[in-house]
Amino acid sequence: MTSDETRIIRAGHLSGPLARTVGPPIQKGSTVLLPNAAALYDDSHLTYGRNGLAAQEALREALAMTEDAVGVSLYPSGLAALSGTLLAVLKAGDDILVTDTVYKPTRRFCDRVLRRYGVGVRYYDPALPPTELLALAGEATRLILMESPGSLTLEMQDVAAIAGLARTRGILTAIDNTWAAGFLFRPLDHGVDFSIQSLTKYVCGHSDVFMGSAAAREPERVRQLADGVLHLGWAVPGEDAYQMLRGLRTLPTRLARHGESGLKVAAWLREQPEVTAILHPGLPGCPGHELWKRDFKGAPGLFSFALKPGSRGAAEAFLDTLTLFGLGFSWGGFESLALACEPQLKDRAHRKDYGGTLMRLHIGLEDPDDLIADLRAGLDAYSALTR
Ligand SMILES: *Cc1c(COP(=O)(O)O)cnc(C)c1O
Repeated sequence: MTSDETRIIRAGHLSGPLARTVGPPIQKGSTVLLPNAAALYDDSHLTYGRNGLAAQEALREALAMTEDAVGVSLYPSGLAALSGTLLAVLKAGDDILVTDTVYKPTRRFCDRVLRRYGVGVRYYDPALPPTELLALAGEATRLILMESPGSLTLEMQDVAAIAGLARTRGILTAIDNTWAAGFLFRPLDHGVDFSIQSLTKYVCGHSDVFMGSAAAREPERVRQLADGVLHLGWAVPGEDAYQMLRGLRTLPTRLARHGESGLKVAAWLREQPEVTAILHPGLPGCPGHELWKRDFKGAPGLFSFALKPGSRGAAEAFLDTLTLFGLGFSWGGFESLALACEPQLKDRAHRKDYGGTLMRLHIGLEDPDDLIADLRAGLDAYSALTR
């Protein structure tokens, strides 16, 4: 008879099969127990838990279906998915072209990390026609990083044309597809090599879990992504993967509501005397609408608008008067959010002026008429300090 100490170590191991639930089991494990000695070094066995177990695998499979990808890698955040993809394919001496309207922390990674490792970084104007963009590429240009629509100012790009031209030159393309939540637009169908998104936004949907993904279709690109994660040693928790998979189930339903309410609020804002421009590619007449109509099957609830020029105090009064919009970064959750954009445009190399004080809104799942009334009160506060 073994001692109590030993028996307590061996106690409580379930031996039967697990009950079948709607969601995958959340397995927790670094060690994976192997059936015999030969299996320890047999590559066909999963031998370690870092790359994820049942919940992570289920999420990867579901995301691959959503983006029509062959392989998907998971990362601890959206920013890690962007940096991880770049690190997986670039080497010293390479040069990359990055849209000037890229998410600001991506720009920080390019400037402060990639450059330090000997990668040249140039920011291009997203308004450039695709042929002129490709004319910027040289011998060393290895990759073009797009974001369409761009962060804060929502410029659209002709992704298919850029990807097609890049391919004929042997240049890789990647896109930050967070606005489309990997669902409203499928970059891989348009010839892009890597579709990257922050799952933290709409897939999560509740502003409380971080994760990112990168999807690819060609086996060589899938392998590069997987090797990149392997080499950097990143892991995502099973609980978080489970949460993301749960969010994915209601993503289309939530996006439909975010999108419809967003368009309603944007159309209303356009009629207000304080508003000089709407930056929402889903709204007819707005910049990029034709490309959006061609490529996207819907819009989410994120857009920006310009107020007629006014003081900083007036802009702050607008935001501080809002009661249904939280003031904060990130987006994609059930609640509405607002922020001022100008401080984030400072580093941009090309366009910085959008004809007024730029505000970004995330339209949540509230009743849009309540949000409109809240915005009207904010605009009144703005007007009172602008005349
Ligand atoms: C938020 C965001 C990211 C980064 O995602 P995290 O999960 O917060 O790291 C990347 N790209 C875009 C466009 C984003 O809005």
